[in-house]
Amino acid sequence: MIGVVAATAGGRTAAKALAAAWPDEVRSFTGEKASDALREAWRTCDAIVSFLAVGATVRVLAPLLEHKTTDPAVVCVDEGMRYAVAVLGGHHGANVLAGRLAGVLGCEPVVTTASDRTGAAPLDSYGADLGFTVHDPGLLARVGAAVLSGEPVSLEGADGWPLPALPPNVRPVPGPVPGRQDGQDGAADADGTEPAVGILVTDEAEISCMCHEGWFGDRLVYRPPSLVVGVGSARGVSAAEVGGLIDRVLGGAGLAPESVRCLATVDLKADEEGIREAAAARGWEIVTFPAEVLAGVAVPNPSEVVRAEVGTPSVAEASALHAARSLGRSAELVAHKHKSAGATAAVARLEPKGRLSIVGLGPGARDLLTPRAHEALRRSSVVVGLDQYVDQVRDLLRPGTVIMASGLGQEEERARTAVEQAAAGRAVALIGSGDAGVYAMASPALEFASYDIEVEGVPGITAAVAASNLLGAPLGHDHAYISLSDLHTPWEVIQRRVRAAAEGDFAVCFYNPRSRARDWQLPEALRILSAHRPPETPVGLVRNASRPDEAVTVTTLAAVDPAAVDMVTVVLVGSSRSRTVAGRFVTPRGYQWA
Ligand code: SAH
Repeated sequence: MIGVVAATAGGRTAAKALAAAWPDEVRSFTGEKASDALREAWRTCDAIVSFLAVGATVRVLAPLLEHKTTDPAVVCVDEGMRYAVAVLGGHHGANVLAGRLAGVLGCEPVVTTASDRTGAAPLDSYGADLGFTVHDPGLLARVGAAVLSGEPVSLEGADGWPLPALPPNVRPVPGPVPGRQDGQDGAADADGTEPAVGILVTDEAEISCMCHEGWFGDRLVYRPPSLVVGVGSARGVSAAEVGGLIDRVLGGAGLAPESVRCLATVDLKADEEGIREAAAARGWEIVTFPAEVLAGVAVPNPSEVVRAEVGTPSVAEASALHAARSLGRSAELVAHKHKSAGATAAVARLEPKGRLSIVGLGPGARDLLTPRAHEALRRSSVVVGLDQYVDQVRDLLRPGTVIMASGLGQEEERARTAVEQAAAGRAVALIGSGDAGVYAMASPALEFASYDIEVEGVPGITAAVAASNLLGAPLGHDHAYISLSDLHTPWEVIQRRVRAAAEGDFAVCFYNPRSRARDWQLPEALRILSAHRPPETPVGLVRNASRPDEAVTVTTLAAVDPAAVDMVTVVLVGSSRSRTVAGRFVTPRGYQWA
């Protein structure tokens, strides 16, 4: 019951609106003396909305305070109906109530408990990109409000799935915890408060048998796409028989049909009507494999009779295992082969793959970061990158994202860390400026990565492209990118490539052109190019493209001053056909060749 206490006309009007909105929950206390009304509400209600000042409310209630877990939650709303301030019991209903009041009164919830509420992953689509479904959407509002308000929320079963970060008040419960009642660690709050609500990821049907009686109240259950049903059958088997067998096998193993990702069988059965119908009725796709492939899968219950007929000693077990292995990093049978008169079925569970997203952040400006890169950051729970790039996107990360930032020169360590985190089943974003595959982190990371992880590359606008757009159209015909850094490449190699670009008459974009310690390479490279193209060939210097101190210079090979170039600059040199037109650097396209 929510007691609503009002002393002014405005307060009473708002109290009426609340009573109308939540008729079963609201009791109004609008007696003569506001302090008496407040005390009465305190005695009889679970929560209070006070239309009195925070100070007045606190003075009346202070002598009555006992413990946050037993006291009513209190929210004060100001006379202008602008703010709903959670005053007492933030994690015990007040933060959530402040949010609900906002919905009815149009005020803003003011929550002062230490949790960053902005940008938390929405629960209705949590894991949706991985194929998660919500088992009981009725709990979304309650658990979602708890996540947002900073209440402790337990998280179980999510390990290994590359899910986005959840805020720090959502705490993983370590390992399997049957019968666990102590609340001493894991998801317990710092002061020992146990979460009233939780999130559970499970493909087990009987949620009640996993329930820690008395420990969990409401748990929002997600079904991960972790199961593959393998089936085999005789010719002409009915859909009812196949479907009945599948239901019995899943039921017998205590597995949730919602977690079935697909149905697997041998190629020969791809057009078996009974199998097709049974799969279609459940909304499952069918995947099929050649008998010779299935014959190579070790299974617990092979049959020589089946081998003689189909060419593989196992259809149900082998196809379930094979499909699950190809979708995950590994798989095991969770229901061995069962038979009906004309069909067989078995179920495999896959261990999911973690995900490494290699994300280019663009040259600097926020509007040159692609929506896809933004989304990749929001889908990650771990971000690995150079400190300065992490700073560039910190505000975009979801609360609870683990940040693993390191300094210059630690590329290999960053690459290893990112791959290890993904191999542990997490959703990792390895970030880099521009495009993360251009003189950046993608190559070292992929040198360490195995088939164990999913890899996704998210393109970014590389410095050359950001710069060329500022200069005009210097890259309008064939061009070469050359890094002048001889830290990892011997100068002889770089020099050979500059010469080749000079002889081939490529326009050139130099990355890493010059630093304090490496000052002679750029003049040398320009000298090589000058031997093959006219002195008036345009040269563009773009420093800090799209960043606050962006500087763009168009000059010529004869006039360029290498001392104006540093490590945050790219240098673009035209081909022999490039020209300056109205101050813009243009490399003509091929069709003007005479
Ligand atoms: N992955 C990056 C390049 C990293 S190498 C990309 O795709 O852009 C680092 C070099 O890139 C710098 O020395 C500089 O030459 C160039 N660079 C990166 N960002 C730049 C920017 N905003 N403006 C100018 N040059 C830039």
